[in-house]
Amino acid sequence: MNHGGDTIFGKIIRKEIPAQIVYETERVLAFRDINPVAPVHILVIPKKPIESVATAVGTDAEVLGELMLAAAEVARGEGLEPGGYRVVTNIGTDGGQTVFHLHLHVIGGRPMSWPPG
Ligand code: 5GP
Repeated sequence: MNHGGDTIFGKIIRKEIPAQIVYETERVLAFRDINPVAPVHILVIPKKPIESVATAVGTDAEVLGELMLAAAEVARGEGLEPGGYRVVTNIGTDGGQTVFHLHLHVIGGRPMSWPPG
């Protein structure tokens, strides 16, 4: 686990390791998850290395908003809007977080159950 510092996503942002990028702006990047749990599974991340929403601060509000809008844009681009989809962010160990760089999972292309396990 890598808390508070550089992560594998930092390497993806800097293009040091490859990723299937589907969306990019000055502050936001979206790429396909390497281990998809559904037909569409995309991670939307801030380029700023915020650990999770739990450590985000007031000055991050704008980029957090951009992330949500990017998630919707990505889902639209993947054709998920008619059937619907899920946007989720895992926080900490109990939340199931394994990469400590904030990311929204955009998951879709199959029906999903609730609550998650
Ligand atoms: P978390 O468990 O932290 O919410 O989600 C981390 C996600 O990052 C997982 O779904 C995992 O498959 C994905 N992931 C981990 N390493 C890489 C990588 O190197 N490339 C890509 N594209 N996804 C990764």
